[in-house]
Amino acid sequence: MSGETSLPDAPRDRLARPWHDLRISVMDRCNFRCPYCMPQSVFHDDFAFLAPSQRLDFDAIIRIARLSAGLGVSKLRLTGGEPLLRPNLSTLVQQLTSLPGIDDVALTTNGVLLGRHLDALHEAGLSRLTISLDSLDPVIFSQMSGGRDVLSTVLSAIDAAARRGFPGGIKVNTVLQRGVNEKDILPLVERFRHSGIILRFIEYMDVGTRNHWSESAVVPSASVLERIAARWPVEPVAPHYRGEVAQRYRFTDGAGEIGFISSVTAPFCGDCSRARLSSDGQLYTCLFADEGTDLRPALADPDDQALDRQLRHIWQGRGDRYSEKRNPEPQRASGDRIEMYYIGG
Ligand code: SAM
Ligand code: SF4
Ligand code: SF4
Repeated sequence: MSGETSLPDAPRDRLARPWHDLRISVMDRCNFRCPYCMPQSVFHDDFAFLAPSQRLDFDAIIRIARLSAGLGVSKLRLTGGEPLLRPNLSTLVQQLTSLPGIDDVALTTNGVLLGRHLDALHEAGLSRLTISLDSLDPVIFSQMSGGRDVLSTVLSAIDAAARRGFPGGIKVNTVLQRGVNEKDILPLVERFRHSGIILRFIEYMDVGTRNHWSESAVVPSASVLERIAARWPVEPVAPHYRGEVAQRYRFTDGAGEIGFISSVTAPFCGDCSRARLSSDGQLYTCLFADEGTDLRPALADPDDQALDRQLRHIWQGRGDRYSEKRNPEPQRASGDRIEMYYIGG
């Protein structure tokens, strides 16, 4: 299994977990208003997003990624908000892929701007692409994206990406909400069987505090798997590496793979090796954190030492295991968690 750190001096956190992944939010804004992430009622036209000058510039992002690589990080994911709203994103991708120690740069996008950036991202060396798609029904798609009637644009971009091909493959992520898009489960599976694209169902999570999450809206992955397996038999696939977030299955008829991200019913904190960087330079050691650490003071020092020391210190002090603690007490553990659009998925 890959994913084990090979750096002798790489830090471990308080639960002995190494640091392998850094998710970088390059943009807090989004062109969608998915009710489970950025409900329009909260993220309205007057919402105070960051000003461009408040966002980390590419030099700062690259510097953090380079120092993180020195501490064990080998995988980066660009996310948001909508990362393709960030101008010249492919330039950043190209610079990140060239960093020593970084062997994988991925992107998560809602896909609406993907078609026009596909060639540049591919040329820049993007390893893997994840596109979010919650429904094949135009009415439900619109409802789940906050009234964006762009299903055909996203589907065309997924097809174009599949034709183009990315070395680490293409995934489609679907968040399931009870009573909203459950009827999409089988049609989505059918659409992506035989396509080479891996479809993954994500349990609706209690990220942030503004999406009115309730446990009753979660569709447990086990029930989704049961429905799929009743139609197309599947068998489990061993994880590629320690800490892999999705539980993977393959169709026994050779039609491909599917995955499940089950943060609510089957938490995976024990192997979690991820940190998240917000677009204004706060580092978070858990998706459900209520506070991060501001890296900007250390970034202001042109010498790398202070920033390097701070990154190491943050990882060594990390004790997060929110999802594991949530299960016995499904109520919200704290009032003030950071929003997903801000630190990325
Ligand atoms: N805008 C891009 C997108 O939607 O792909 C990237 C950022 S988005 C925050 C990353 C992923 O988080 C998406 O796949 C989205 O569906 C997922 N997500 C957002 N809110 C969620 C929630 N409450 N529960 C589960 N997944 C969520
Ligand atoms: Fe935007 Fe992605 Fe959040 Fe939807 S899930 S509102 S596309 S950041
Ligand atoms: Fe990692 Fe936090 Fe998610 Fe647990 S809850 S898997 S520690 S991000």
